Amino acid sequence: MPISASQWIAQHGGHLRSISARKLRQACQRADGECTWCGGKLTGRQSAWCGRLCVDAFLQLQPRNMRDVVHARDHGRCRQCKRDCDRMFYLAQRLLCLAAKNVSWAATVTALRAHWASVGFHISRDFSNEHYWEANHIVPVCQGGGLRGPDNYETLCVPCHAAATRQLHRELRAQRAARGKQQNMKGKSRYVKRRGK
Ligand SMILES: [Zn+2]
Ligand SMILES: [Zn+2]
Repeated sequence: MPISASQWIAQHGGHLRSISARKLRQACQRADGECTWCGGKLTGRQSAWCGRLCVDAFLQLQPRNMRDVVHARDHGRCRQCKRDCDRMFYLAQRLLCLAAKNVSWAATVTALRAHWASVGFHISRDFSNEHYWEANHIVPVCQGGGLRGPDNYETLCVPCHAAATRQLHRELRAQRAARGKQQNMKGKSRYVKRRGK
């Protein structure tokens, strides 16, 4: 009985941000004629997937799709500060529409950028709603939270996400430092033992 991709992901996927179909086939040791996801036999002109359900199961895991799922659930509301990022996006669009009709477009864009920057949003390229919020991993990928489905994601506005990321990096640095110290101690005790002989 071949291992199903969901089993493999449950066991090994926690440290991956995403996985390609090709890698997944390799990981699950699929032979020619086996479905990438379930390992079932392919028929007719099928070359990698036995059906829609297996393709969808794979596509659902992709970060791009996860953003859509998280957005449909949270509607762009930041879980930390409760800021409504969809509304910010909507207001920005409204302002830009007005600007296009009446005042100078460039002046409005500059004013909007300055305003968003003052509340911690550094929106550089355009005003798409992608730039107002991030789908944050609740359990970070480096701690096994990768490929875990929508339950492991929360909506964070850009400033809250930046703060959460800084905090995570501080914790990781502290952990590394603690490990380094432990290793130093081990090294020293060996050294002392040898010297004591
Ligand atoms: Zn299948
Ligand atoms: Zn926030």
